[in-house]
Amino acid sequence: MSRKKILAGNWKMHKSINDARNWIRHFQGNRKGVLHVDILLFPSYTTIYPIGKEAIKANISLGAQNLHQEEEGAYTGEVSGKMLVDAGATWTLVGHSERRILFAENDKQINLKVRRALTSGLQVILCVGETLEERESQHHQEVVRRQLTEGLSEIHHDDLHQIIIAYEPVWAIGTGKTATPQDAQEMHAFIRSEISSFSKPKIASSMRILYGGSVKPDNAKELFACPDIDGGLVGGASLKPETFLAILRAF
Ligand code: PEP
Repeated sequence: MSRKKILAGNWKMHKSINDARNWIRHFQGNRKGVLHVDILLFPSYTTIYPIGKEAIKANISLGAQNLHQEEEGAYTGEVSGKMLVDAGATWTLVGHSERRILFAENDKQINLKVRRALTSGLQVILCVGETLEERESQHHQEVVRRQLTEGLSEIHHDDLHQIIIAYEPVWAIGTGKTATPQDAQEMHAFIRSEISSFSKPKIASSMRILYGGSVKPDNAKELFACPDIDGGLVGGASLKPETFLAILRAF
């Protein structure tokens, strides 16, 4: 099954509207025909609408880094799926480890967010991944299995094509440590077999699974060459367009 590759950039709490526009212009001007990879950017909420037109011209899809699980209501400071669609987002991240750890999001809440995103018309990147302690105690597969089964609970098989999984080991995010291609491939194959066990082999083999965690130009090629790694979710190295382009060339 051939799956279209994806390169996604998570800008976290960085960049003004002007910085974001300049980034897109630089990227577009230097992409040089690398069009066989889907490009997704996750800027701040406040940047999504203002950069929408530039993103469309540059063939980039925009997403949010989070959403609230309720449709609307008295949730001061929160942003709904419908608002994100209204602002021009077509994707959202759900369950990023910074949300799980710093904002205490649990699997139940993450599942509600995935379901709300889908009913709002957003596609989802569901992030999963173990901590260093969980890996060292050999619990990494058990943790990722739980994050997948609970995160995707009550989601119909027919909706799974709207979802991408990002395997992001927590110990590799923003630390400069990367999973070896062998360890990453092993986990990606495990994720695919888990998805197959609760849906259908055909759905699992068409699902895209990204690796995230200190992806850089010098490690991207080996990671992206692994058979079950369909691209990357990049944090720090997505902030400069030249570095992101260098990662893109690794495909
Ligand atoms: C991320 O935040 O999703 C991420 C992978 O960050 P970094 O590339 O900086 O490790």
